[in-house]
Amino acid sequence: MSKPHIIAIPYPAQGHVIPLMELSQCLVNHGFKVTFVNTDFNHKRVMNALADETPLRDDQIRLVSIPDGLEPWEDRNELGQLCEAIFRVMPGKLEELIEKIKEEEGDKVTCIIADESNGWALQVAEKMQIKKVAFWPASAALLALEFCIPKLIHQGIIDDDGTPLKSQMIDLAQNMPTMKTEDLTWLCIGDITTQKIVFQVMLSSNKTVKLADWVVCNSAFDLEPAAFTLAPEILPIGPLLASSRLGHSAGSFWAEDSTCLEWLDQQPPSSVIYVAFGSFTVFDQTQFQELALALELSNRPFLWVVRPDINDNTCHPYPDGYQDRVGSKGLMVGWAPQQKVLAHPSIACFLSHCGWNSTLEGLSNGVPFLCWPYFADQFLNESYICDVWKVGLKFDKNESGIIPRGEIKNKVEQLLGNENFRAKASKLKEMAMTTVKEGGQSNEIFKNFIEWMKS
Ligand code: UDP
Repeated sequence: MSKPHIIAIPYPAQGHVIPLMELSQCLVNHGFKVTFVNTDFNHKRVMNALADETPLRDDQIRLVSIPDGLEPWEDRNELGQLCEAIFRVMPGKLEELIEKIKEEEGDKVTCIIADESNGWALQVAEKMQIKKVAFWPASAALLALEFCIPKLIHQGIIDDDGTPLKSQMIDLAQNMPTMKTEDLTWLCIGDITTQKIVFQVMLSSNKTVKLADWVVCNSAFDLEPAAFTLAPEILPIGPLLASSRLGHSAGSFWAEDSTCLEWLDQQPPSSVIYVAFGSFTVFDQTQFQELALALELSNRPFLWVVRPDINDNTCHPYPDGYQDRVGSKGLMVGWAPQQKVLAHPSIACFLSHCGWNSTLEGLSNGVPFLCWPYFADQFLNESYICDVWKVGLKFDKNESGIIPRGEIKNKVEQLLGNENFRAKASKLKEMAMTTVKEGGQSNEIFKNFIEWMKS
């Protein structure tokens, strides 16, 4: 009998592609055939990043692509333009792909697993009478917030455009992070036009997600009990991590520089500050240099991911003579194998932008955090880390809006000088490991989920 065939279709951003790839790897382990559909633009990046790695075998995951509707040179950070193009072009291309699989391989697609933000893919599945799963790669709290939008409008907290009527704190449920109206996710992304587009996409996803037979989330009940209780239709199947992988990840947009693992091998246990800001964050020169000097000042080994596009000014990002002064004490790489780095015994703490994947990866390895949120849901995740789980510290900005080197150095010392952070982080690690093991809650839900997909 042929294997059940899944189409997995992520939203085209790094933080969405990686966790859906992790889920796809799990499904392959459980006897599914997975066709993973990136946009042409991202597919090229993934294939380039994979160039030096052993190619995935066909019985693992088939990587294919369809156009996102933009020309190769058009700016994909222009969210309005990207969303319009996606809605216009991708549904038809996905239908064509499914027809082609049927005609050329005689294979019927059993199920479409679409990122929750790709509501159009759920509509295609509905039209073609294929099983539908919405995959949510961020916190359950964020999806619960999206589900609460109509209520927030009804209560006069925000208007139909997502603009708060006044500044206030929002408590969606007890023991969920409290949110300031100005930190609502869509208000922390780009300019006003972009914010309104993001809000409209969330409103639209709020409708299309109702088409899904399952809504699965890369989180765990014990991490966010209040959010899962508030929105019980969201089912936790995470944390989905590399430990469930067959081989290397096939989702990175940049080639991983694995030499840093050898460098980590040379460092004492629990000594290294790991610094990484995910795939989007951009620094201005002043803040970048301040961070560089703070790491030097901390007088501890550090591993810092400096993406080729991390600076808005790429001329001379480091202070004069910096690399010579730091020497072998600090290592800068363009893109790290982050999950392996965080699992390394030499890591002491994670200075992070608090993207959800980075958050899960840090806590699954028992690593405490220094939080430097930049946009979207990262403020919410910071609040989970510092206020709810209490495994990290926040930074304070000065009156110029900069986090100064002294503040960074002090917080590093405060975090590493207090054993409680590490102890709490170890407990979270244990919880994260237990829930995905046989008998654990995420594991039980995952097993029911695959039974349903096979039925
Ligand atoms: N990542 C990586 N190497 C790096 C930096 C990041 O592999 O040097 C991965 C990280 O492990 C995570 C993803 O990129 O899985 C970033 O996702 P996250 O949600 O943390 O942030 P985003 O990029 O969406 O802001």
